[in-house]
Amino acid sequence: MMEKIVSLCKRRGFVYPASEIYGGINGFWDYGPLGVLLKNNIRNAWWRAMVECPPIGPDGHPIEMVGLDSSIIQHPRTWEASGHVGGFADPMSTCRQCKKLFRSDHVADMLREAEWVKSLAEGLGLDESGAGAVDIGRLRQWADRKAKKVAPGLALVRAFVPTLAAIEAALAGTPSPGLTPLLALVAAAPPPAAPCPACGGDLTEPRAFNLMFESHAGAIQDDANKVYLRPETAQGIFLNYKNVLDTSRVKVPFGVAQIGKSFRNEVTPRNFIFRSREFEQMEMEWFCHPDEARTWYEFWKHERMRWWLSLGVSSENLRFREHDPDELSHYSKMTVDIEYRYPFTAPDFGELEGIAHRGSFDLTQHQTHSGQKLDYFDQELQLKLKAEGRPDDEIKAKSRYIPNVIEPASGLTRAVLLLLCEGYAEDASRASPVYLRFDAKMAPIKCGIFPLVNKDGLPEIAEKLYLELRGRHACEYDAKQSIGKRYARMDEIGTPFCVTIDGQTREDQTVTLRERDTAAQERVAIDRIPALLAERLG
Ligand code: ATP
Repeated sequence: MMEKIVSLCKRRGFVYPASEIYGGINGFWDYGPLGVLLKNNIRNAWWRAMVECPPIGPDGHPIEMVGLDSSIIQHPRTWEASGHVGGFADPMSTCRQCKKLFRSDHVADMLREAEWVKSLAEGLGLDESGAGAVDIGRLRQWADRKAKKVAPGLALVRAFVPTLAAIEAALAGTPSPGLTPLLALVAAAPPPAAPCPACGGDLTEPRAFNLMFESHAGAIQDDANKVYLRPETAQGIFLNYKNVLDTSRVKVPFGVAQIGKSFRNEVTPRNFIFRSREFEQMEMEWFCHPDEARTWYEFWKHERMRWWLSLGVSSENLRFREHDPDELSHYSKMTVDIEYRYPFTAPDFGELEGIAHRGSFDLTQHQTHSGQKLDYFDQELQLKLKAEGRPDDEIKAKSRYIPNVIEPASGLTRAVLLLLCEGYAEDASRASPVYLRFDAKMAPIKCGIFPLVNKDGLPEIAEKLYLELRGRHACEYDAKQSIGKRYARMDEIGTPFCVTIDGQTREDQTVTLRERDTAAQERVAIDRIPALLAERLG
């Protein structure tokens, strides 16, 4: 299914491989005319829900939130303080045979999708999960005919006789070992080592690899001028926390939201735009009193899930996953991911957004590294505690603090992928056997306006309606090709409504209004169209 989505994206102008005329560049993508509209719709919905019309807080009042657009390149010490220079490293393995690099924690997933693993399972007649008895005759045949081509690095190819003998011995007691042990056998890699997803060769032990892209600010390319492209937008918010407090009217608790580009030199960019090297993030840092951090963590966890559902994503395809303590990032006290069932993870789920309780880690680190005081004096709390008659030292300890931070961090470009996957539908009986069921709010084009034929006064009527509507909604006027082809194209790009002007329009001023998902058509007066669309597009 992913191949079909990628091909639809290219064909219809949602997403193109970057630098395609030079053969592409791994991990970089360009958003075409429709992709940029879809991305902007998600961006605007997030900004509206976070900054312009933030949620009502647990106390029944609207919470305080402001926006920010910080620089991609910040002072390099930012990344020392944040832990990225020392710690933003993923374990990585290299294949000794084909020399390709892989993120060690991605190898298991990649093997499940690897061409040679699929070929092996097919050759042995195993089911998709690799279950079934291994027939040595068929394995010998596969090694001889297929493996040389699809998995030249495999021990079974490089050292056929001893590897086959070892496999035979191992299978004597367990003829149905399951996929992972079978892969270890054909690769002669004792678990937990796994073979190379590309060629079946030996992977090196995992080594740390820093994911930040480096550059130099100024003419001299030495270490003193080294800078980094930000790997997350969050740090720009921490650096401006004091500026925001001093120059706007917010008080703790409050949030600062930001949308922007981030860069990570991912070892294995993959799954289309899911994991790329340049991407966009939507992040918000919520500054609150340490005693209230747990309450806000729960609040944001549920708010963020509510927001994804409001984009028309079905609840069966979304879930929470709390991180185990040993999985937590260096800064995090607790983290929950909102996960989506992507076609390439199904039936399992993959990360869409992380909501982390970062404690006071970031502000404390920046306070230490910059020497600037980043604590907060909570006058309201001081007065409240005084009125309650609390002892002076308790009042002092509680009303001056470094705020804790709750951070919902999601990928804007990953959200584009989510909506494409969620909307993708196939129906062989339709003019377009593939169509996109976007929620009307997210659809790049809301309405197609077509004269049935490009003559007899119909284009004039259609164009007048188009001019009336285009100021309110993203509309497209199209007079070319058969009406079936025009409907099919609109279905494929997820346009929820089409209006067709035909001969009858001239007689009774009615038009056909067609709805995408049901393909139902109704005859309505042309002057009712603006109101009907306003109502149905929400
Ligand atoms: P992973 O462990 O999968 O590399 P992460 O947990 O480090 O990712 P975060 O740092 O929490 O990711 O980033 C927040 C969000 O940014 C993610 O939930 C995801 O939506 C998005 N994101 C992170 N890395 C990428 C990437 N390489 N390409 C696209 N989106 C990304």
